Amino acid sequence: MTAVQPHLKARALKSSSRRPAKELCSECGLCDTYYIHYVKTACAFLNQQVAELEAQAHGRSRNLEHPDDWYFGVHQQMVAARKTDPIPGAQWTGIVSSIAIQMLNRGQVEGVVCVQNTDTDRFQPQPILARTPEEILAARVNKPTLSPNLSVLEQIEQSGMKRLLVIGVGCQIQALRAVEQQLGLEKLYVLGTPCVDNVTRAGLQKFLETTSRSPETVVHYEFMQDFRVHFKHEDGSVETVPFFGLKTNQLKDVFAPSCMTCFDYVNSLADLVVGYMGAPFGWQWIVVRNQRGQEMLDLVQDQLETQPVVSQGDRRQAVQQSIPAYDQGVTLPMWAARLMGVVIEKIGPKGLEYARFSIDSHFTRNYLYVKRHYPEKLAAHVPDYAQRIVSQYKLPE
Ligand code: FAD
Ligand code: SF4
Repeated sequence: MTAVQPHLKARALKSSSRRPAKELCSECGLCDTYYIHYVKTACAFLNQQVAELEAQAHGRSRNLEHPDDWYFGVHQQMVAARKTDPIPGAQWTGIVSSIAIQMLNRGQVEGVVCVQNTDTDRFQPQPILARTPEEILAARVNKPTLSPNLSVLEQIEQSGMKRLLVIGVGCQIQALRAVEQQLGLEKLYVLGTPCVDNVTRAGLQKFLETTSRSPETVVHYEFMQDFRVHFKHEDGSVETVPFFGLKTNQLKDVFAPSCMTCFDYVNSLADLVVGYMGAPFGWQWIVVRNQRGQEMLDLVQDQLETQPVVSQGDRRQAVQQSIPAYDQGVTLPMWAARLMGVVIEKIGPKGLEYARFSIDSHFTRNYLYVKRHYPEKLAAHVPDYAQRIVSQYKLPE
């Protein structure tokens, strides 16, 4: 019998130490653990390997002959859904938290990696290895900041857990998949959300202060399908600000450099992805990537109302026009921004076409950013599917 080789370890970095990916680090948490040993291959910003990891996780990588694969990744099924009895205080209707709770209650997993907030700051992330439904529930709602979810990985081995669910965004999941074989697990389930334009805690403060009428009372916010940012305040009121009225010139540097170089908006390596952007307003958008993802969704089917995903309109002109506007930091007067928001909402892209609009706008912006700031990285860092998406547009030099 061959003995199982223990995985290799290296000393975790101190929180104040510069990370191997330097300014591109998204603080995914890997380097806070002894799995930093694998950082050169595992880090999404040092070694882009989406296609290889897709084959490992889903049995195949994206089919580049199929534009739906470019956009949404490997998938078996997409559907719009919402909980018939939403979880109060969740980001949307709480499908993510409900799946995690069911998996724990049914004994499918022994623990769940998720992220709560600290006692003193609702937006400061506090990753945990949850062992009770109450701990999962306390992690509901987005912490719209870079979050070191993988910093709890050492606890998994120490706890002796064999079946685990990890909830996370694309860069965290890419590093997780790269070290999956080293975690000593019998079964790993991965529940992802899309993610884009994330910020450091300081960056978030700047965003709230430049955009909201009352930054200190914001409980959560989302860039919505009606082309407005919706801020929900402590008193339950909702403030909306049109995308086209954002102070782009002041906000240009607010997004983390990692997010300006990211091409994994749709969390390609999760088994199941729960977002909103491919669904009608008020609904969540679900992408089942593989059988494990289907297994997770099945656990909450009886808590959901569903409808097929749809696609309407044509995003291309709006994307092409937004490229120079963003590049030159154009900000419209608020009345014009509101008017443009109303017109675009009436005639603009809906459902999956809205998701494509958002993916195209971010990928073209990020492609230009990488080309200008890291030209030596461009060829290897931009995955083939993203190259195809970007090549549909005319870009400035
Ligand atoms: P809930 O039941 O409220 O659970 C939320 C879960 O998210 C919790 O389990 C928590 O552990 C986890 N979480 C919270 N913050 C973070 C974080 N910073 N990093 C990792 N995990 C976290 N969807 C889109 O369709 N388009 C987008 O552009 C988009 N942008 C997003 C940007 C960010 C930064 C994040 C965190 C999510 C984004 N999403 C986006 C996903 C969407 O906002 C919802 O999170 C998702 O639909 C789940 O909603 P829910 O009510 O089911 O989640
Ligand atoms: Fe380490 Fe993650 Fe930062 Fe890469 S993104 S340097 S893996 S903490």
